[in-house]
Amino acid sequence: MAELPPRNAITLHGMRIDRLTMEGALEYVASFIASGKPHHIVTADASMVMTFREDKDFAAIVENAALITPDGAGILWACKRQGTPIPAKVSGVDLSAKLVELSGQRGWRVFFFGGAPGVAEAAAQKMRERFPEAIICGVRDGYYKADEENAVAEQIATTKPDILLVAMGIPRQEKFIARQKERVGAKVYIGVGGTLDVFSGTVKRAPLWMQRSGLEWFYRIASNPNAARLKKLAALPRFALLTVIKK
Ligand code: UDP
Repeated sequence: MAELPPRNAITLHGMRIDRLTMEGALEYVASFIASGKPHHIVTADASMVMTFREDKDFAAIVENAALITPDGAGILWACKRQGTPIPAKVSGVDLSAKLVELSGQRGWRVFFFGGAPGVAEAAAQKMRERFPEAIICGVRDGYYKADEENAVAEQIATTKPDILLVAMGIPRQEKFIARQKERVGAKVYIGVGGTLDVFSGTVKRAPLWMQRSGLEWFYRIASNPNAARLKKLAALPRFALLTVIKK
């Protein structure tokens, strides 16, 4: 097997981030699938760094991740400021779209898990329109009672996914992955936040100029200011302060 690109990992406020391009991340995914063993990929944004610092169980999960990609303008800004610049982000939504696109050609089975009832189905339908060869082996919404979790994981396992995209928000999705990765039997697990909302068209992506100027987070909060989003927003000034006072 070809040699994998170096991770060039750096540490930001105590949390590891691997400095890979999208192509590099995809090479890792291919090797993880070929290995046949479960691997957790974390896509890290600024709010996650703050959760990492405040939640020990969550931090332990992230520390054990196979790959931690930079997801978001805040991470890019902070890394540049501390003198460890990152070439580009590898966001959960972009990585997920790439994996769906490649799934047909590579024979990868992708499962969409999370979002409100109906969102994962709509996301699968839209992605099949975009990539007719895609192998989306199953879908399931992200709302169920805690005592149903094992049964949900078993139900996902019956579809034999190679890649499980878990779209339930930070830290819920990462904790689900840590508890259930052996039961589900996939090889790659990624917590992808609002990705299925974006795929389904339930939530629109920011205009390109906003994505390019690092303002996508602002667009998402302004267009859907729910409690979870406002909590994420509250983490951003703390993240910025931490970054600025460190210098
Ligand atoms: N969600 C879910 N189950 C829950 C709570 C939330 O599936 O119990 C979904 C919610 O419908 C939304 C996603 O999780 O689609 C959270 O997206 P967000 O962009 O807020 O995630 P984050 O920014 O934390 O990655």
